[in-house]
Amino acid sequence: MGLRRSLYKTPAQLRAMVEPGLITAAALQALRPAVVAGATTAEIDAIAYETIVGRGAESNFQLVRGYRHTTCISVNEQVVHGIPGERVLQPGDIVSIDCGAQFKGWNGDSAITIVVPDPSRPELVAARQRLSEVTEDSLWAGIAALASAHRVGEIGDAVQTHIESSGEGYGILRDYVGHGIGRKMHEGPTVFNYRVADLGPEVRPGLCLAIEPMVVAGDEATLVEDDDWTVSTVDGRDGSHWEHSVAVHDGGIWVLTEPDGGAAKLAEFGVVPVEIA
Ligand code: MG
Ligand code: MG
Repeated sequence: MGLRRSLYKTPAQLRAMVEPGLITAAALQALRPAVVAGATTAEIDAIAYETIVGRGAESNFQLVRGYRHTTCISVNEQVVHGIPGERVLQPGDIVSIDCGAQFKGWNGDSAITIVVPDPSRPELVAARQRLSEVTEDSLWAGIAALASAHRVGEIGDAVQTHIESSGEGYGILRDYVGHGIGRKMHEGPTVFNYRVADLGPEVRPGLCLAIEPMVVAGDEATLVEDDDWTVSTVDGRDGSHWEHSVAVHDGGIWVLTEPDGGAAKLAEFGVVPVEIA
């Protein structure tokens, strides 16, 4: 595959990606304490909106045709693209929250999963925590792989290897994938969460990717709900979604949607992120 100019950003463009990443991280950080039993998903969405607008940015989810919310909030058997609304969170719910900000024309995109405490059902909570932790760790395995990868497809290999090595028999969604990010929230290249024959484009300075494993406790088959957005498992088992936007530059990699660039999580992989100069 030949090089496509648009896949690789200039150093100045990479610098422009830093602030929208930090604003996205701030929005997710701000809403975390609100993910509690009794909260509505609309209330959580409002916190993300206020954080993003308060920092002079826009919600890039609201720029997606037909979508008017700041986040996607997916509960239990919903894996991605859940619509915030009047749903009231219950004890023990597993809640995946996806959010993004656009600042000065550049985008951030990140997702987290939180399990609402439920002291009366410790086994359920532990199983859901495990799903979330394995999914998050697979994201970091993919990010760590990017640090030394020659081709984009090595990320999906690392994600799948991590999921398989958990021994939990989890499924990885096939029909939903990560993506490049920049002027648009969704750009090329495709970032698979599983092994593919075509390893895709070269990893070179200037690449910015949103890596986002979507993992389910049971079978990977999904359906789209009647709202035409929400993606749920067919078998009704739980899902988890974690995502970060990551830049490759001359000095190394930097996780744009973590204030520390991913340093804490990447340490166990022996990867030291390098700030974008
Ligand atoms: Mg996202
Ligand atoms: Mg994304």
